[in-house]
Amino acid sequence: MLSKRIFLLSVVLLGVWSCQTEKAEESKKIDSAFTKKDSVVIIEQPIISELEQRMIEQGLVDIQTLDSTIMVELKYSTTDNFVKTDVYGDLTRAYLQAKPAQMLVKANKVLQEKYPNYRLLVYDAARPLSVQHTLWNLLDSIPPKEREDFVANPAIASIHNFGSAVDLTVYDDVIKKPLDMGTKFDFFGDLAYPRLEDEMLIEGKLSKEQLANRIILREAMTSVGYMRIESEWWHFNAISRTRAKDLYKIVE
Ligand SMILES: [Zn+2]
Repeated sequence: MLSKRIFLLSVVLLGVWSCQTEKAEESKKIDSAFTKKDSVVIIEQPIISELEQRMIEQGLVDIQTLDSTIMVELKYSTTDNFVKTDVYGDLTRAYLQAKPAQMLVKANKVLQEKYPNYRLLVYDAARPLSVQHTLWNLLDSIPPKEREDFVANPAIASIHNFGSAVDLTVYDDVIKKPLDMGTKFDFFGDLAYPRLEDEMLIEGKLSKEQLANRIILREAMTSVGYMRIESEWWHFNAISRTRAKDLYKIVE
């Protein structure tokens, strides 16, 4: 994911320098263009896309600036998602409204106090409504009513569109992978439904360990006020849709 990030190189000159030549190849490193290497400091600054800039202006925050131990792998910024398409492009950072972001930081602390090797891994957070439309349209072979099983209708908007919902799992630093939750993120079927977990356990489709792993995530999130939903083990709302509508603007 990091490789997708584009970095702007800002050059701060602390001493006297002289430019060797204007014909230096574009691809050559910036410091090679200066004769006094020790007088040049190169600072890497992430380019903030127009979309991110708009989110920041709406009060949303990059959650990793609050807690860098929270991992982020926005699945919609990869092709490893249910539409097999990168619909986020340059957006690789996870944004939430400030309060939900602070709640997430607390949940990560709660998790790490009990399980020092674990941390939260975020798959999706604030989702622009424009992307909600893209996801909706990519599934246009499915009739609208059935399509709502897979993706929220953009006409109604998702709590993700208000920057107040998060999709996530638990990452284990020892085994260097996410915990086994019984299904992948965005698995559309009974096995992903928290409300069917007892049934799935009896039928042997969900193991005791997989259920225990889901409970570890659920307890960390609900202990700080996040609300679970009954159809996706990975999704949590910081507030209700009505409250989100009252408090926040949709991320367009
Ligand atoms: Zn979600």
